[in-house]
Amino acid sequence: MSELAYPYEAPASQALFDRAAAVTPGGVNSPVRAFRAVGGTPRFMVSGTGPYLTDADGREYVDLVCSWGPMILGHSHPEVIAAVQDAVARGTSFGTPAEGEVALAEAMVERVAPLEQVRLVSSGTEATMSAIRLARGFTRRTKVIKFAGCYHGHVDSLLAAAGSGVATFALPDTPGVTGAQASDTIVLPYNDLEAVHAAFAAHPDEIACVITEASPGNMGVVPPLPGYNQGLKDACAANGALFVSDEVMTGFRTSRAGWYGVEGVVPDLMTFGKVMGGGFPAAAFGGRADVMAHLAPAGPVYQAGTLSGNPVATAAGLAQLRLLDDAAYDKVNAVSARIQSLVTEALTKEGVAHTVQNASNMFSVFFTDRPVVNYEDARAQESFRFTAFFHSLLANGVYLPPSSFESWFVSTAHDERAVQRIADALPAAARAAAEATA
Ligand SMILES: *Cc1c(COP(=O)(O)O)cnc(C)c1O
Repeated sequence: MSELAYPYEAPASQALFDRAAAVTPGGVNSPVRAFRAVGGTPRFMVSGTGPYLTDADGREYVDLVCSWGPMILGHSHPEVIAAVQDAVARGTSFGTPAEGEVALAEAMVERVAPLEQVRLVSSGTEATMSAIRLARGFTRRTKVIKFAGCYHGHVDSLLAAAGSGVATFALPDTPGVTGAQASDTIVLPYNDLEAVHAAFAAHPDEIACVITEASPGNMGVVPPLPGYNQGLKDACAANGALFVSDEVMTGFRTSRAGWYGVEGVVPDLMTFGKVMGGGFPAAAFGGRADVMAHLAPAGPVYQAGTLSGNPVATAAGLAQLRLLDDAAYDKVNAVSARIQSLVTEALTKEGVAHTVQNASNMFSVFFTDRPVVNYEDARAQESFRFTAFFHSLLANGVYLPPSSFESWFVSTAHDERAVQRIADALPAAARAAAEATA
């Protein structure tokens, strides 16, 4: 490990982390925040403005995480904040229907053609969990196909990620998930239609749905190969299963209509979260009206939520969607492309083997010179180089996702000044990656 690994102390963050660890397992409320993959002290943030975050020690960072995607307009966007303040002033939760949730659903349906009806929930996990339940209720089948390296939230049956190459029954990936839950999940390698056809052949009339990230961002950015999503859709249609496209990360980020807007493959069900909540807990699932009609109270498949369609969250989400016009996406795509080429340039100059992959404005850097088409490829990278690269950037005021298996995110607020800071920090980070040893 190079001596650049932890180049400076963060005493205020460390003190908060110590306090947190006393009352919260591992000191965090979502595991990746703990920096376990890269080591060092997780930075406790106190404020965010535009493309910048400020930590408890008073240091400012260019934020390339954007809350894992939601903050596509940057932090504290004045119009989003105003919409939130306006909503808060009228009350924070009613437990009744309210106009805001209708307006948000209308805005989503208007943008995403296959989305005929939508049900609002509070997290992406709830969205995928409910979509799977609905698919099972609709088809009266039990098994689900998912792909290794695709993350769909911490739904019991979707945490199984073992098995590759052939259709295998997955073993639970975590204690607490029962063998019965995992055994209804078939985990296949990503970007391999042959494996999908084989699984359908091996389990006739048993598979309720195939769920996939529309374009995966949770093993790093690994886009579908041309024709792959259409192949999944066709295989589902031919076998009486539903095609569930998880757009929690890509939805309203990769285009106005998410990854659907990029590729045009029509799913039966879709899931959303992140951008649509405008930084608040709002998520959704939806799709074909005849399938959604099976959901309570219209139909027998039960699903509910005390805070579903929360008026503050829906106001934030709606304000954000309204600001996301074509010009906004052009801007995010352009700044993303700039940063991608700066990273490529810096790593190339230092002779570091790398592959930058993108799905519209989502991108990530793999420390390997081979294209990454599935989880196995992603795991073959030299992650130790990422650790050195990450800490060097952090020391120089650039905040990356603290793992080499995550997408980087940018926003409309990433302006010339923010890009320049990244450009200034990259040469040292590339050198640190070059010098790193396993
Ligand atoms: C983030 C994410 C989820 C889970 O959403 P939460 O709001 O964290 O529960 C599900 N699917 C995908 C593709 C995601 O990126």
